[in-house]
Amino acid sequence: MHSAPRAALVTGSTSGIGLAIAKKLASIGYKVAVNSFEPEKDAVAALSEITAGSSAEVRYFQADLSDPDSAFNLVGAVNEAFGHLDVLVNNAGVQKVAPIENFPPADWDRIIAISLDSAFHTIRHAVPGMAERGWGRIINIASAHGLRASPFKSAYVATKHGVVGLTKTVALETAEKGITVNAICPGYVWTPLVAKQVADQAKVHGLSEEQVVRDVMLAPQPTRQFVQPEEIAELVAYLCGDLARSITGSTISIDGGWTAK
Ligand code: NAD
Repeated sequence: MHSAPRAALVTGSTSGIGLAIAKKLASIGYKVAVNSFEPEKDAVAALSEITAGSSAEVRYFQADLSDPDSAFNLVGAVNEAFGHLDVLVNNAGVQKVAPIENFPPADWDRIIAISLDSAFHTIRHAVPGMAERGWGRIINIASAHGLRASPFKSAYVATKHGVVGLTKTVALETAEKGITVNAICPGYVWTPLVAKQVADQAKVHGLSEEQVVRDVMLAPQPTRQFVQPEEIAELVAYLCGDLARSITGSTISIDGGWTAK
């Protein structure tokens, strides 16, 4: 029977979806490891948002996940600080919008390193401790782009399809160990990552920024509404519960109906 508060690491949790997840887990009593590539002084606002109204232990871990050793060592640092790591949320991600013939190879490498390679390195370091304790939750924030493609997002779509494949494989390997491994596949969520790509999308599609939001971003999302980060956080909290023990190897869409088509 579990007694001490569980410990969660949320990668890329100073902004957007990761911030909402860290906030939610702290609010329900988890010890939370907050991460970004920035120095702690630049994460102060996010940290105070996460700790507001909660007495949970929240600590910051600077690690640039584009570097494999940093991703691997992040899990070791959290394990050392909290004594255990029970929930791993691989959330950090970046985007680049460009046609394949002009897609900068450095951006291809960076996108795959931050979202796919880093998940491999955090997972391979987190699984042994979870298996030893007979309980663990690994939640990978993939995307509707883990299940469908859109033009001009080759690296992102390849990465997110890869994250879905990684999720299913690790779920099979850990199924008898009390560990669940799932991918959440959001549609468009209004966060800084999306706000930043409006201008790029306008350029490649030859549209105004307003047209991009209406005719490109929200076109595949039948609700015609952005998903809110708190909706993703709520699902993460559910997947962390004991009653979610049979949900593993799943891709769970929160996409306003996008992938129903
Ligand atoms: P965001 O830009 O608001 O936040 C990204 C976070 O990742 C930030 O905390 C940032 O500091 C961190 N990060 C970036 N590079 C990093 C690095 N090298 N090392 C460590 N941390 C790093 O983005 P978001 O929209 O909240 O996206 C979060 C995740 O959700 C991403 O994986 C994204 O692909 C996925 N997602 C987003 C949407 C959406 O519409 N916003 C939809 C589907 C999936």
